[in-house]
Amino acid sequence: MLLLCLESSCDETAAAVVRDGRQVLSNVIASQVDVHARYGGVVPELASRKHLEAIPVVTEQALEQAGVGFGDIEGLAVTRGPGLIGALLVGLSAGKAMAYARRIPWVGVHHIEGHALAIELEQEVAYPFLALIVSGGHTHLYRIGGVGDYQTLGCTRDDAAGEAFDKVAKLLGLGYPGGAVIDRLAAEGDPHRIKFPRPLMHQDNLDFSFSGIKTAVLNYVKKQNGPIEGEHLRDLAAGFQQAVVEVLTAKALKALRGADLQRLVVAGGVACNRGLRAVLHGAAKGEGFEVYFPSPLLCTDNAGMLAVPGDYYLSRGAGSAFDLNAVASWPLDRVRPVSP
Ligand code: ATP
Ligand code: MG
Ligand code: FE
Repeated sequence: MLLLCLESSCDETAAAVVRDGRQVLSNVIASQVDVHARYGGVVPELASRKHLEAIPVVTEQALEQAGVGFGDIEGLAVTRGPGLIGALLVGLSAGKAMAYARRIPWVGVHHIEGHALAIELEQEVAYPFLALIVSGGHTHLYRIGGVGDYQTLGCTRDDAAGEAFDKVAKLLGLGYPGGAVIDRLAAEGDPHRIKFPRPLMHQDNLDFSFSGIKTAVLNYVKKQNGPIEGEHLRDLAAGFQQAVVEVLTAKALKALRGADLQRLVVAGGVACNRGLRAVLHGAAKGEGFEVYFPSPLLCTDNAGMLAVPGDYYLSRGAGSAFDLNAVASWPLDRVRPVSP
């Protein structure tokens, strides 16, 4: 099927055209980062308004770049949740309107389902696999048995990993969002000079906690007499990143062993992190596990990722009805498989 996909759960308005849930013909992303940066975080009402402006634009760009007309589209996959409710409603309403106007099927997709399956746009990964989702709102370990077959194995008790990166970047005056900035600084710093705690790392569970690391960084900053700059800043970024990366790695490996899984897929914005990629690759390979990271564009928010589950559901006749509503909160394991 030739699908048009729409994503508007947070601060990216995105549209993509994907054939058969695998071949990405276009994947257009309009980021609102500049709009929210001066507030130090996403302002929900502004996000909704910006989505409203951007959705027709990215849709047209996606069709144009794909070299197809609106009339060629055979179905739509749209993010239904979780996310900011006003933001989600823009994409969902636009998707419904297009489906209604064209009399084509559409399906509301779970945003994290998109993140977890995005890798399939680049390479096939056999089910079952372990998914480590590390994003702005999630730090979760899931057993992915197939499309629609998701089991939560562990998650954060407080902040998400991306949230920790963003909060630490903010308190260091590095702007918002700060994950990529910390990644860049850390690449040139010494990860062992300034030591931060590794919460829950040695506990026999698959839970995470990141607010303590953030507080430790804050306390460290408060103890300094002057501003933290240059090499000191790079070492601080590297020390913080190392703490997060080691915890994520330890728990992912524990989950692989405990759930008897061979393959690990890492996804979500923090999966762009070069430190995480390097450490996780090394550690997992050392124990004989396969590790997969989508390319950075498919790690952060995009619409193309929705096509993997979207095409699966629509080609099995499992489309959504027009009374389906957006949902702000929606645990991934509430998604149910459809009959093949
Ligand atoms: P969710 O997917 O949970 O709804 P989200 O959609 O806001 O949240 P994503 O777009 O998947 O999250 O990821 C954004 C997060 O990724 C931000 O917190 C950002 O700082 C972080 N991030 C992006 N690049 C990097 C990087 N190179 N290193 C660390 N973190 C990064
Ligand atoms: Mg975002
Ligand atoms: Fe996301």
